[in-house]
Order: sequence, then structure tokens, then C-alpha cells
Amino acid sequence: MSTKYIFVTGGVTSSLGKGILASSLAKLLQARGYSVTIQKLDPYINVDPGTLNPYEHGECYVTADGAETDLDLGHYERFLNVRTSQANNVTTGRIYQSVINKERRGDYLGKTVQIIPHITDEIKRRIKMLGPKQGYDIVVTEIGGTVGDIESLPYIESVRQLKWELGANALVIHLTLVPYLKAAGEDKTKPTQHSVKMLLESGVQPDVLVLRSEHKLESSVRAKVARFCNVEEEAVVESRDVATIYDVPNMMHEQKLDVTVLKKLKLPLREEPNLDAWNAFLDRHKHPKGSVNVGLVGKYVELPDSYKSISEALVHAGAENHVHVNLQLIHSEKVNEQNATELLGNLQGIIVAPGFGHRGIDGKIIAVKYAREHNIPFLGICLGMQIAVIEYARNILGMDGADSVEMNEKTKYPVIDLMEGQKGITEKGGTMRLGEYACKITDKASNLYKAYNKTDIAERHRHRYEFNSQYIDRFREAGMTATGVNPDTNLVEVVELPAHRWFVGVQYHPEYSSTVLNPHPLFVAFVKAVKQK
Ligand code: GLN
Repeated sequence: MSTKYIFVTGGVTSSLGKGILASSLAKLLQARGYSVTIQKLDPYINVDPGTLNPYEHGECYVTADGAETDLDLGHYERFLNVRTSQANNVTTGRIYQSVINKERRGDYLGKTVQIIPHITDEIKRRIKMLGPKQGYDIVVTEIGGTVGDIESLPYIESVRQLKWELGANALVIHLTLVPYLKAAGEDKTKPTQHSVKMLLESGVQPDVLVLRSEHKLESSVRAKVARFCNVEEEAVVESRDVATIYDVPNMMHEQKLDVTVLKKLKLPLREEPNLDAWNAFLDRHKHPKGSVNVGLVGKYVELPDSYKSISEALVHAGAENHVHVNLQLIHSEKVNEQNATELLGNLQGIIVAPGFGHRGIDGKIIAVKYAREHNIPFLGICLGMQIAVIEYARNILGMDGADSVEMNEKTKYPVIDLMEGQKGITEKGGTMRLGEYACKITDKASNLYKAYNKTDIAERHRHRYEFNSQYIDRFREAGMTATGVNPDTNLVEVVELPAHRWFVGVQYHPEYSSTVLNPHPLFVAFVKAVKQK
């Protein structure tokens, strides 16, 4: 069969949940037996989000093939339980970069290079790249930004062209907002009407409208929208606020969004979507047998999206353990010796977050010390692992001023050093150690082995610095051991304190590969330890 393309656009405002809608629809289609992938097109000019501060668009998600991508790709993987890749996230920067490279090579020799057709052709090529060659039946492409933004225009134009070229093989879903005006006591459809008009001005007629609202909409609202926007009533679907993002596939299924979409794409409905495993997860998630307090110490806590994959991995691991994980985000700059008990005293588990640069380091060191001294289950992720090493060096090994050379180039004890392969690299974009690497678990008595129950694992990375193996013996003698190493380079991937109940620092990012149907074993083991505290 020829690949079908579904485009998801957004109107009225950002943050309506296009990524969750796209993931939920893809989930339903997948559960009906179709192979589906999702792609995100981001209209900003950065080549990838790797160089962005998390305050801008939330966390940077890393794929197994080493792409630094938008956090929506994390949702795609968590919902679909399939891996995404470099090709699943495209930015305007990347589009322009390849067009300009082609221009310099002479590929367009003699021609004026223009947005139409050159930029739009490149966008279309990137969309189609996931089609027949990669073997997907359906490609869902989420267009970032809001219709009407200047920077989204080339994408909307590409959608217009593709709809024309592909006919019934393409479909546009437009997500908008229906606000409720308290003073008038009414749901207002005008913003949706305007937003659809805006799309029509660009030559795109949406096939399906999804109305985001804070509560249930009257059917008359849907009928009104259908009438004004040239969309059938059954193709107007509401997306109201729900308890968890993982409820959205069921909410869409109840309104037959999957059926409407398949009919419009002229695809057989096949079997009813099998959501048994998904719903079993939801049941465990919604009916926990207890609750645990876990603290996540980081410096970007004002924007919870900065730690999206970690908080979702804890949702998955909590459900697996039949407990609700009450995640408390703790600002690392606010933690000091005096208030440590006040801020950390009610926690049954502590995670120290990934991060870059010096800000907030002192508070993270105090949090590690608190977890170590109070025998509180501890998980250090990437920078969090490096901080655990620094804390141990300073407070147990007596290495006064021990540090990472990222924080202090002149430290007397560079227990965390720049990786060999990073020396001489000056460009910042895409140059870290990225993506999946093998790791060998060296000790079967370790908590690491108990978590994975195997010795050969592979995990995703995003870092420039590493445990300085010169110090490995001194750490081991003092009680901190390396329980996971890279089999090719011997790079230390995991450190543990065998004398502690559960103290694991990982150089990699387990959070990126936790999904609803495959909760990550390390998070599951961490929550299990937390539960027993
Ligand atoms: N800044 C540290 C490094 O580059 C840790 C990175 C991270 O936490 N992702 O090695």
C-alpha cells in the first residue's frame, strides 16, 4: 500500500498538546495493526535543539542514533514503544543548511534559490523520507508552532502542495482552542473559526478539527464549528483536560478519531485497537497502593518540561511498583547545609539531575551527601553521577577542591575530566558523545545487575566529561566502585556504593528509553528501593 501522511497543525495558541494528540492517534492506528511513525517539524532556525537552554523548549531528547531532538519525540517513543531517529525531527535550520550546502555544491547552478520550490521541496523530501523506504504505513507529521506564525509558512505551504500531490493519501488535522468565557457563560468558537480561516488563506482545508477545551463541550458547539469550517460533524473531536496524558488515546478512541481518520485515508479499519496492556498500565497508575516522595534536584525546575523524560520514567516505574511517585522538584541553587533537612528530610528517594555548567552545583553536592549519609536511595543521572563522584572525592577521599574540569579547569583533583575524544573540539552543535553505546555490567552483586538482570546493556548518552579512570583504584578502596563500563574504551558508565542501600550514578540517560509498555529497569529498581525505605 502507498504510505499515508497525516499532518497535525495547531492554531490559536501554543501548548495545546499537538505532540500528545499526534502520539495518541498514532497509538490507536498502531493498535489496529498499522506501522506508524511520527515526525516533528520545528520552525526555529537552530539546526537542532542541542544548543538550546531547557528554559526555551524544555528538555533536549536524545534518540538512540544520537540525534538531539525536541521533547515531543520522547512522547512518541513513550506512547508507541518504537524508536525514533534523526529523521523524525527536522528544523528550519537543518532545512536551510542542506539547501545552502546544495547551492554551494552547484546543485542548482544557474538558478535562483527560493523558498518555493527549493525550501518547500526540501521540507517535502524530509517528510517523505519516512515513507515507503522505511516501511511505515502511516507517517504522522506534527508541524511545530502555531498557524499564522511567519516562520511556519513554508511548512504550511509544503502541506498544501503535498495534499494536492497525494490526494486521499494525505490528511490534515488542526488542533485549536475553544475557551470558556465565564462572564458570558459560553464556549467560544470564534478563535477556532479564525484559525481555520488562516489555514484556508494558505490554501489548506483541514479534514479533522480537534477542539481543546477545559471541560466537556456541548454537541451544539461541535456542530457550529463543523458548519463554519467545512468539516463534517463527526470529524470535529473534542480534547478536554484529562487526569493524565496517557488517557488521551482512550478519549480519542471514544470519539472514533481513529475510525474517522482511516475512513478518510481510505484504509480498512482492521481490528478494534488492542489497548489491554496500555489500560492495565493506566489502571495501576490510577489506583496505586501507596505513595512515595522522590526529590529531583536540578537547576531548571521552574520549567518542569526540562525534566520531562525523567518525570515520565517515574510515572512508568511507579505504576510498575503499584505506587504513586510524588515527584518534588527541588531547586539546586536553594539547597544548602542549613536547610538540607528541611528540604530533603521528607524524601524517600533522591535523584540528582543532568545538567551543564557551574550554576547550582553546590546544592547538588549537598543533596548527594544527604542521600549518602542518610542511606536514602539515590540515582544520579549524567551530571548527577559526576556530582556523586565529586562529593565522594571531597568528603570521603579527602581530596579538597576535587571537581569536574567543566567547573574548574585548574582543580588539583580532576576526578571528572574531559573525554579524550572531546579534546580539540570547538564547535558546540552536535559534538557531544551522543546516542547509544554498549555498557558491560561488571559485578553481579551490584544493584545495577539486579536491576537489568543481564550483563550487556546499551544506553543513550549526552556528555563531554567522564570519570577520570586514574582515580579508579582510590575510589574502589574507599568504597565507591565502577559497576558498569564501556567494553571498548573502559569508560566508567556507572558508579555505586555497595555499602549503601541503593546508590547508583549513571553517566548515561536511562530516562530516554522508558516507555509505557517497557518501563526502564533502572527506574523500576530505584522506585522499588524507595518503596522499601
Ligand atoms: N555537563 C556534563 C557533561 O557534559 C553532564 C552532561 C549531562 O548531564 N547531560 O559531561
